[in-house]
Amino acid sequence: MQPQHTAHNRFLVAPYPHNAYHAGMPKQSFSHVTTWVFDLDNTLYPPECRLFDQIEVKMTEYVMNTLGVDRPKADQLRHDYWARYGTTLTGLMREHDVDPAPYLIDVHDISLDHLEADGLLAHHIKELPGRRIVYTNGTAPYAERVLAARGLDGLFDAIYGVEHANFLPKPERAAFETIFEKDGVDTKTAAMFEDDARNLQAPHDMGMRTVHVAPEALDHDHIHFHTDDLPTFLSKLS
Ligand SMILES: [Mg+2]
Repeated sequence: MQPQHTAHNRFLVAPYPHNAYHAGMPKQSFSHVTTWVFDLDNTLYPPECRLFDQIEVKMTEYVMNTLGVDRPKADQLRHDYWARYGTTLTGLMREHDVDPAPYLIDVHDISLDHLEADGLLAHHIKELPGRRIVYTNGTAPYAERVLAARGLDGLFDAIYGVEHANFLPKPERAAFETIFEKDGVDTKTAAMFEDDARNLQAPHDMGMRTVHVAPEALDHDHIHFHTDDLPTFLSKLS
């Protein structure tokens, strides 16, 4: 069975052989969930908005200025650190002792003109029963700007950024543990929505329900559900 991208089946119940939930409908699989955790970038807005393109340009320029390297070298380092550490920032901190605070302010100083309010997404998030939080590898102030531009402000009980986990990013399990301890999340009754599949491994291992929000489905045991249409997926849960 292949995932079906049809108008009548916009959310996907991924056909993973080792997945205990694939045969069930989402509603039953989420009936125990009381805390809903959302990533921000490319999860609460579509990747077509390409905000990350702007952030990547800023990151490259920051690397060039801070390390005194040319653009190709900075791009190579940025990609290398992202692959090895989960974020560019972690590589800069670990290998070059870069101060995270000014870096984070600079790279998130981008235009949000391409974002539009999403009334349908707002409606379905509002309907979710329980606590709703945002957890991003960006910063909380940046998340608040993005949420406001998407018309999603005021819907979340808490917003956490990388600064709340001592600048340790997802996918590090210790980062999730820090945030969830801070918030009092019981991972056995929580769900995580993310576009970066790497960032669903620790939540899965901690007992959370995992939802991959992305154009393409990936075949990983740690992904319970996939959707390319978050509002429609959420509409099935409440
Ligand atoms: Mg993301």
